[in-house]
Amino acid sequence: MNTPNWILQRARLTPERVAISWGEEQWTFREVAERSMDIARKMRGTGLREGDRVALLTSGGPETVFLIHGGLLAGFELVMLNIRLTEAELAYQIKDSGAEAVFTDDLLLDRAPDSTAVSRLLAGEGTDFEPAALWEEDRTLTIMYTSGTTGFPKGVRQTAGNHLSSAVASVLNMGLQEGDVWLCAMPLFHISGFSILCRSLIYGMTVRLQTKFDAEASAKEIAEGSVTTMSAVSAQLVRVLDILESQNQKASGNFRQILAGGGPVPSPYIRRAEALGIQILQTYGMTETSSQTATLAAEDALRKTGSSGKPLFFNRIRIDGAERPGDEGEILISGPHVTPGYVGRFGDRPAQEDGWLHTGDIGRVDEEGFLYVLDRRSDLIISGGENIYPAEIEQVLAGHPAIAEAGVAGVEDERWGQVPAAFIVARKDVTAEELEAYCRERLAPYKVPKYYRFVGELPRNASNKLLRRELRDKFELQE
Ligand code: ATP
Ligand code: MG
Repeated sequence: MNTPNWILQRARLTPERVAISWGEEQWTFREVAERSMDIARKMRGTGLREGDRVALLTSGGPETVFLIHGGLLAGFELVMLNIRLTEAELAYQIKDSGAEAVFTDDLLLDRAPDSTAVSRLLAGEGTDFEPAALWEEDRTLTIMYTSGTTGFPKGVRQTAGNHLSSAVASVLNMGLQEGDVWLCAMPLFHISGFSILCRSLIYGMTVRLQTKFDAEASAKEIAEGSVTTMSAVSAQLVRVLDILESQNQKASGNFRQILAGGGPVPSPYIRRAEALGIQILQTYGMTETSSQTATLAAEDALRKTGSSGKPLFFNRIRIDGAERPGDEGEILISGPHVTPGYVGRFGDRPAQEDGWLHTGDIGRVDEEGFLYVLDRRSDLIISGGENIYPAEIEQVLAGHPAIAEAGVAGVEDERWGQVPAAFIVARKDVTAEELEAYCRERLAPYKVPKYYRFVGELPRNASNKLLRRELRDKFELQE
């Protein structure tokens, strides 16, 4: 579906409504559009034209929002760079994406030496131009790189149609109430944060912005009811829960839900949240699907704990090779939110086969149509012919009071081929024997880790995702 330019359309429809609130400041949709248009003129003043690919390396907050909207008004395909990447990783993505220009926060300039500082851009001359009134469905708005958890990050094209259908499908599931405010503590360069900006423009909803995730401030807003919805990954969620529990506080009656994605949320967290009056909506999404594909509806959150819900209204999910409900296999996705393809190095790789995106994730769908994401195909452990999913073992370990974080990977074993090894970040003293006994009570014998290694931290990438391949390497080095 082609749509009017969202930024201009929203400013026309509800100009005086608050779009962004940040600290003590706030901006209406009209103000956001004006500021962004000013930046768009300056961007075009550098000689860049509609359709050019332009990268942004910015650290978040309202200035980043204006810059992103400015880039969209200028008509660019925005390459969203992750500020936690190393200089070499950034250089790779800038080159791979074919970006014609890079705009970088002054503080980050040393990370991308050949780029233009935002301060220089803002000091420049603007050029008057007429922003596109209509956004065609297949217009590429953003290019985002996957997290690089299983291999090389892939540059994913995300169109206006992808983002629009994703935002609409989300609200058809989560609902929208007057006065809804979405707390955005996720990075804006990642689909988790960017999709909140799209929802804000499309729904006319206020975003409460944090420049960087602040657990204390988030807990406070949830307790006071100044926000109604939040997006979080499970590592953030558990910090918010810890704070609320330690302060003996609960969520305000205004607060509706936390959309939890990026990976599985351990069920002990979901129960703890429930006790605090917080509903956790587990969601399954990826860069290639511009955010959620399936999300658990509030009414099923407790009955189907552990599930990522049903596909949202426009989407379909199929388990490759499954003959009956419950069969496990690769998750295939189809819907208007699926990317038309990659750019750069992976530009030749088709994103879909026969209309289905092959996700590389393994899952199953139960008789009622609820999706359970088991794990990544590449992390599957095959032990004596049995399939073992590291995520299941990590979830059990996460429920142990002495464990802050756990990662599990398959390591070679003469007898079984592979066996699970657990890497533990402990918060209290605990022995391997105690952990083994704990796992024996909760897991089938073949799933109980054979090794327990205590580590200071787990290897994670710039999206904070656990790198199980590095756990495997680490284990082999120590043997
Ligand atoms: P790369 O594709 O480069 O290896 P990545 O897949 O980690 O990186 P993202 O697009 O950021 O990059 O992450 C999407 C992935 O996150 C999914 O394919 C899936 O493996 C995982 N994920 C997302 N939601 C869930 C969930 N609810 N349960 C389990 N895993 C999830
Ligand atoms: Mg991926």
